[in-house]
Amino acid sequence: MTELAVKTPQLLANAAYLVAGVLFILALRGLSSQETARRGNTYGVVGMLIAIAATLSLNLSGTHPLVAVAIVVAAVLGATMALRVGMTAMPEMVALLHSFVGLAAVLVGFSLQVAPSAPPLAERIEVFIDVWIGAITTTGSVIAFLKLRGSVSGRPLLLPARHFLNLAMLIASIVLGALYASGGATWSLGAGTAIASVLGVHLVVAIGGADMPVVVSMLNSYSGWTAAAAGFMLQNDLLIITGALVGSSGAILSYIMCRAMNRSIWNVIFGGFGAAPPKAAAGAAKPAGDVQEIDAATLAARLRASRSVIIVPGYGMAVARAQHAVRELTEVLRAAGVVVRFAIHPVAGRLPGHMNVLLAEASVPYDIVLEMDEINADFPSTDVAIVIGANDIVNPAAEDDPSSPIAGMPVLQVWKSHLVIVNKRSRAAGYAGIDNPLFYKPVTRMLFGDAKDAIEKVVAAFKAEASSKAAS
Ligand code: NDP
Repeated sequence: MTELAVKTPQLLANAAYLVAGVLFILALRGLSSQETARRGNTYGVVGMLIAIAATLSLNLSGTHPLVAVAIVVAAVLGATMALRVGMTAMPEMVALLHSFVGLAAVLVGFSLQVAPSAPPLAERIEVFIDVWIGAITTTGSVIAFLKLRGSVSGRPLLLPARHFLNLAMLIASIVLGALYASGGATWSLGAGTAIASVLGVHLVVAIGGADMPVVVSMLNSYSGWTAAAAGFMLQNDLLIITGALVGSSGAILSYIMCRAMNRSIWNVIFGGFGAAPPKAAAGAAKPAGDVQEIDAATLAARLRASRSVIIVPGYGMAVARAQHAVRELTEVLRAAGVVVRFAIHPVAGRLPGHMNVLLAEASVPYDIVLEMDEINADFPSTDVAIVIGANDIVNPAAEDDPSSPIAGMPVLQVWKSHLVIVNKRSRAAGYAGIDNPLFYKPVTRMLFGDAKDAIEKVVAAFKAEASSKAAS
């Protein structure tokens, strides 16, 4: 065989990898906006199919039939999970998928270690780093999954001297890594993996529920770096590119979310946020006053008399699957000449973009869905703000009460509108587990009930009022 004939499959695979890499970049770009997200997803799927085909084509002769079986089983499992998962359970699924990436990296690392030809020094360093980050990602993601599911308490578990414990585990890992790199046996890699696994659990159990969005995004970043490290081990350029893309985009998202919560990333990782009320808050009084209720008919009449309405959706809208009722409310209001817009907080719901996805699914026009920074200044000139199943993201304590656990977190200033409607089922606290003085403000009226039922009643009342007016 000529040299060219030998090299051709690798050259073709490299070209395919390049195409896949470009498609992944286009996918990320597409996912940055609702209008292009679907297209972005398609780019990602096509890129992944090309990547898998190119990788398999390089190893066709040596590919074990079990690989084909594994691909089919994984594809069926993945498709079933994606079809069945409810929008509210999406963060859990994402956390679980990150743990698979971590586990895959650990397995690849160990498979290289036990291969007949032991890896050389440089490769040993790569193997150790890959396995170490992979183990943290795996156990950290499993704990994040259990916390988001509610199987493990959302409260941070803060062991005494936890920072010292983390430091001790880090130092022990560095020593084991050095031992392994300088020719140590499999046990040093195994011990490093065990320590990293414990560290992953310890880091994530110490983080409170309200910081889970950042944790999930950080674990996403870790899973990317693990994949990149695996790419170096396997000398696979595409895995390096893809891992770096996932790693850096996850890191950027974590940074953006921390900024949205007015927290530093270190404060999130080591802060134990939400463990207990800070000292100053311990004696603080509960919000004073009674709540005032409103019924669907009265609200419908108030809405008819309004010119501008801002809807603030939160986690409760997802739980109640109320997005279609909300879209219908939007339609009837707009048909009556009311300007309707949506205000989306960066951590509304349980996943970045959670609300945007639900509203897009219900065909709410993209151009009336605005981010917090774009709309927060408009509340004072708004007639009615309707909060649907949201709580923490509209809590004025974040601005008014320096002792509040969410002090400093930017919130949607709904209380500045002329009238605030809060729809939820009770006065219960939101995800951060803290009281909300918004419910007791003179400007607020509570519309109690399940979001879907309540909004459907408002729509019915609005329509009934319109037809009785038309008849008279
Ligand atoms: P919250 O969890 O603060 O509040 C949601 C409210 O919805 C609850 O108070 C609940 O009150 C109400 N609710 C629940 N079910 C229904 C229903 N069927 N109908 C009507 N209301 C209902 O949600 P927010 O969106 O305001 O804030 C998000 C919180 O979640 C933040 O603390 C954020 O940090 C955290 N988080 C965010 C993630 C993200 O990436 N977006 C991920 C993980 C956590 P009631 O029981 O009285 O009905």
